[in-house]
Amino acid sequence: MPVRSDSGIHPSQVFEYSPQVRSDANHLFNISPVKSSSAFTTSEAAWPGECQSGSLGAPDWKTVLAEAIRDPQELCRELDLPSSLAEHARQAGKGFPLLLPRTVLPRIRKGDPHDPVLRQFLPVWEETQAVEGFTTDPLQEQAALTAPGILAKYHGRILIVTHPACPVHCRYCFRRHFPYAQALAGKQAEKETSTGVQPRLIASVVEYLSTHPDVTEVIFSGGEPLIIDDPEWKAWLKALADIPHLRRVRVHTRMPIVIPQRVTADLLATFERCPLTKVIVLHANHPREIDNPVSDAILRLRATGAVLFVQSVLLAGVNDSPEVLVELYEKLSELGVMPYYLHQLDRVAGAHHFEVPEHRGREIIAELRRRLPGYLVPQYVREVPGATAKVPIF
Ligand code: SF4
Repeated sequence: MPVRSDSGIHPSQVFEYSPQVRSDANHLFNISPVKSSSAFTTSEAAWPGECQSGSLGAPDWKTVLAEAIRDPQELCRELDLPSSLAEHARQAGKGFPLLLPRTVLPRIRKGDPHDPVLRQFLPVWEETQAVEGFTTDPLQEQAALTAPGILAKYHGRILIVTHPACPVHCRYCFRRHFPYAQALAGKQAEKETSTGVQPRLIASVVEYLSTHPDVTEVIFSGGEPLIIDDPEWKAWLKALADIPHLRRVRVHTRMPIVIPQRVTADLLATFERCPLTKVIVLHANHPREIDNPVSDAILRLRATGAVLFVQSVLLAGVNDSPEVLVELYEKLSELGVMPYYLHQLDRVAGAHHFEVPEHRGREIIAELRRRLPGYLVPQYVREVPGATAKVPIF
C-alpha cells in the first residue's frame, strides 16, 4: 500500500548537513577550511613517524565538503535540468536530502536527467513510493549492534560505524534509515574535545578487542570513515596497532571517489606507517566516476602499500550493462584496484527503482566472464540478514 518512505533518519539530519544547522555542524566536525596541520606532538610523532602536512589538491577536502550542493534548484541550474526535477527532489529528499560535492559535477552530462552518475544522487519521486519488501532496515543491522559504534556481524571481524556522516547521499544506500544516533551514542559529545579525536569510542573498541582474541580484522565503515580527520586516523591506527591478535585494518570508503582531495599527505603517511595490513575497499559504480583527480588519489593510496579493491552496487539505469562494468573494471585495474563485490541491491525503502532482477544480474556476470579475465570479475552477492558472510549469487 503506497505510503511515504521518508520516516527514517540519516546522519545528515541528525548531525550536520541540514542547512539550518550547517554552521553548528561545521564546528562540531571541524569542517572549515584548514591551514596545514600541525597537530602532531613530539610524542605522537614517535609513532610511527612524522607525517607531512598539506593536501594534494585545491580546494582542500573540508572546503569541498562544506560547499557541497544541498539545494536541488541549484543542482538543476548547474546541470541545465528542468526545475520541475528540483521540486520532486525536494519532496523525495525530505528524509534523506540531496548532498553532492561539486567535484562530481564535471562527471555528469549536462541536460541529461537520466545521466548514470546523476541518477545515483538526485532524489526522485519514486523514492516516496512504498513497495512491499522494501524496508528501513533491510539487513536487520540494528540487532547486530553489540556496543556503541560496533557491529559484530561476521566471524573474526568487527565493523566500526566510525562516523555518521557521508560526503554524498547515494539514493540506494542501505543505511539511509540507519539509527546512527543510537549506534554512536556518546560520540557527539566527544567531538567537542579539543583535538577532535574520539577517545571514548577508540577506548571502547580497544576494550572490546581485548576480550575477543578471535577478531583479526577491524573494518571501518560508516557513514563514511574517511570523513574523520587525519589526527583521528592517526589515533585509531596507533591504538589498533597495539592489539597483538589484530592483523588487518580495512576501510570501506566512497570518499576518494567523490572528494579525492581527502587523500591528504598526512593521511597517506599515517596509512603508510601503520604496521597492520591495510585493505581499502572503494565504492564506485560507473567508469565516469574515475576521473583524473580520482585516479591520482587511488595511485597515492596504493603507494602506501594498501591493497585496493572496488565494490559496486548493481543499479538499474546506472551500471546494469556488461559494457559499463567492463569499462569500470578495466579502468580500475589499470590503477591497481581489483574487483571485490558486485552487490545485489539491498531492499531498502525508497530504492526500489534501482533494483535489477537477479536473472539479469546473472546474465551480466556471465557476459563479464566472457569478456574479462577471471580476476577482473567480481563476486555477485547479496546480503542476507543474520548470515555470517555475503551470499554468492550463481
Ligand atoms: S557514501 Fe556509502 S554510506 Fe554514505 S550514502 Fe553513499 S552508500 Fe551510503
